[in-house]
Amino acid sequence: MPELPEAETIVRDLRPRLTGATIVDARVRHADILNPPLTPRRLAHGVRGRRISGVSRRGKIVIIELQHDLRLAINLGMSGRVVTSDAARAGEFRHIAVTLALEDGRAILYDDARRFGRLALHTPLSWRVRDASLGLEPLSNEFTAERFRALTRVSAVPIRNWLLDQRRVAGVGNIYANEALFLAGVRPTRRARTLTRAEVGRLREALRNVLVRAIAARGTTFSLYRDASGEEGGFYPALAVYDRAGQPCPRCGSGIKRIVLTNRSAFYCPTCQR
Ligand SMILES: [Zn+2]
Repeated sequence: MPELPEAETIVRDLRPRLTGATIVDARVRHADILNPPLTPRRLAHGVRGRRISGVSRRGKIVIIELQHDLRLAINLGMSGRVVTSDAARAGEFRHIAVTLALEDGRAILYDDARRFGRLALHTPLSWRVRDASLGLEPLSNEFTAERFRALTRVSAVPIRNWLLDQRRVAGVGNIYANEALFLAGVRPTRRARTLTRAEVGRLREALRNVLVRAIAARGTTFSLYRDASGEEGGFYPALAVYDRAGQPCPRCGSGIKRIVLTNRSAFYCPTCQR
């Protein structure tokens, strides 16, 4: 499932390919991935003739920035992929939901096998509302130990769940939440408010560390994630606990445990994580 590093990898691939290009048409094959009130007609009307001024990211959301401060926000859901037609290998993308044709003959393809992804077209005003609904960017300067601590202190939810809530910290999903908790030596079931100042500091460093390393490896692929060139991410072998139940902890050799926490797996080392 794409998280911040996978979205960032796609953004870095798309930015040089798309900046300056002009969209001439939008074709929607599966309208269920359009976030209401967006409709195929509104999408086509909104993007047609517009130049792409940049490509950016907020949390896990890929943003295609358009002329006149419009933003096409792509939430990749479970299996969403964004690729340009010139980089897509034939046969690799079989679930194309939206095609944005470009003036230069290429196209932007949004492919989504499971269709949990969502596209939204934002005006400056609606984007301000959406942006405000998302929490701190973990790789930005605003993500200080003080702010992180202030937010954890008022919450009784397990810290793994806390990390997944996009209203607090944006972009972290189950893979990197579990990996960061391992690096910080904190058990996923701990209530957020019970973390000490030192643990919060370690968790902040661990989150930033794992996200930066995952971006460098171009993300993690289990089955469906591909970057904007259709390639798999390379971070899977670097995972210490996630998807490694029963295997030895890379630090102490104890068996990695898997538990279910609010319907999602959590993985941890019973020796290293307290
Ligand atoms: Zn261990």
